Amino acid sequence: MTCETDVAVIGAGAAGLAAGASLAAAGVDFRILEAASVIGGRAATDRETLGTPFDLGCHWLHDARANPFVPIARRLGFRFDADGPARRQRLLHLGARFATADEATAAQAAVDAAMDAVTAAGRAGRDVAAVEALRPLGPWLPLARHWLALMSAAAPERISTLDYSRYHDTDDNWPVLDGYGALIQAHAGTLPVTLDCPVTRLDHGGRRLRLETPRGTLTARFAIVAVSTAVVARGQLAFTPSLPPELGEAFAALPLGCAEKIALLFDDDVFGVPPRTGLDAFDTDRPQRLAVSALLRPGGAPAAVVHIAGPEAAALVAAGEGAMVDFATSALAQAFGAGLRGRVRRARVTNWTHAPYIGGAYSCALPGAGHLRPWLHQGLGTRVLFAGEALGGPAFSTAHGAHLSGRAAAETVLERLRSQP
Ligand SMILES: Cc1cc2nc3c(=O)[nH]c(=O)nc-3n(C[C@H](O)[C@H](O)[C@H](O)COP(=O)(O)OP(=O)(O)OC[C@H]3O[C@@H](n4cnc5c(N)ncnc54)[C@H](O)[C@@H]3O)c2cc1C
Repeated sequence: MTCETDVAVIGAGAAGLAAGASLAAAGVDFRILEAASVIGGRAATDRETLGTPFDLGCHWLHDARANPFVPIARRLGFRFDADGPARRQRLLHLGARFATADEATAAQAAVDAAMDAVTAAGRAGRDVAAVEALRPLGPWLPLARHWLALMSAAAPERISTLDYSRYHDTDDNWPVLDGYGALIQAHAGTLPVTLDCPVTRLDHGGRRLRLETPRGTLTARFAIVAVSTAVVARGQLAFTPSLPPELGEAFAALPLGCAEKIALLFDDDVFGVPPRTGLDAFDTDRPQRLAVSALLRPGGAPAAVVHIAGPEAAALVAAGEGAMVDFATSALAQAFGAGLRGRVRRARVTNWTHAPYIGGAYSCALPGAGHLRPWLHQGLGTRVLFAGEALGGPAFSTAHGAHLSGRAAAETVLERLRSQP
């Protein structure tokens, strides 16, 4: 490994890769160090399991009209669906039957009302648990809780209303049909990334920064730390001297929650619905049972991608792959008939929760800690900057938020390099 560089980027996810692309464009000497054996982090596409691209992590171009990955996708020839979500069919199953049109409308109104109430509480300056902002939602409460959990990867008891209200939500959520993970990896091109190279310690006490890895020590003038909040909070990447208390507190207050996917390939179409039909399913008679959302027939394949989130999902992940596949198959069988049970040909589950260098899905501030996220932007002194989805501003928790944060960190470093050549 090269022992010296001007800028070291730690992590080759959407944020680190964006930082690298900006540094490369400026002609600066830099190196990206990545702990895993692949680039992309939470941006990863599996092309094998379903015979059609299956995004293990990010899939939707949120805030698509302003999302920087839209022009990148166009340039690289990646297909996305700009108007599909609006006209796509969405089903709601209530445990014993499908909802009527009126019930589906009422359920959607309840979910929207729940999200609006949480946002309103935060905008009013209240930083409490999202659950405290919820008004009675009758039978739709489990569905509203499920959607809040999908949005934040956390139960409403662990979502800060203030943090939630700062997310810029638009209705423009466009799926990348060829895979968002594949797009982010393709955009990285030939950036200089050293794989299988976890940085265990960043020493920022001396004249040059020292990055310790099992493959040797790299020294640098600047570092962009583009790893998840969990990696810093649990000390997988240690700092010498230690992080100042307010920064340590901020990383700890932004844990990554649980949001996972279970992909199932069947021997033939078992759903009889148009490609990319959406399904929400929960059991009105057993409201404590984990609700699911699913994408049916992605890419027209005889398949489903089932989404689960929150603490009950974490318990299922802990129970193992077999339990996850069984749960997802049961949820679909409840809606489409027990006959599909014996027809699963292939399955793949995600486990971001226990991925060693990630540690969960996306960041969400704990109640009362909504003011801490902006602290990450101050960096560590003038030479160490942070990037990643947690620093995505109003696009926190997203891939494009991560990308924008990486670009911003690189711009700051470039300005400082210009002023101190
Ligand atoms: C199930 C799921 C669904 C999602 N859906 C969407 C979606 O539809 N749309 C959307 O916009 N976003 C979505 N997201 C979120 C999005 O994927 C992430 O916000 C984004 O990819 C995070 O990028 P990042 O660069 O901040 O972090 P990461 O992707 O975590 O990248 C950090 C990198 O740093 C590496 N690393 C960690 N520690 C070290 C170390 N010590 N040394 C060196 N390298 C290290 C890691 O291996 C990793 O590659 C989803 C996420 C999940 C889990």
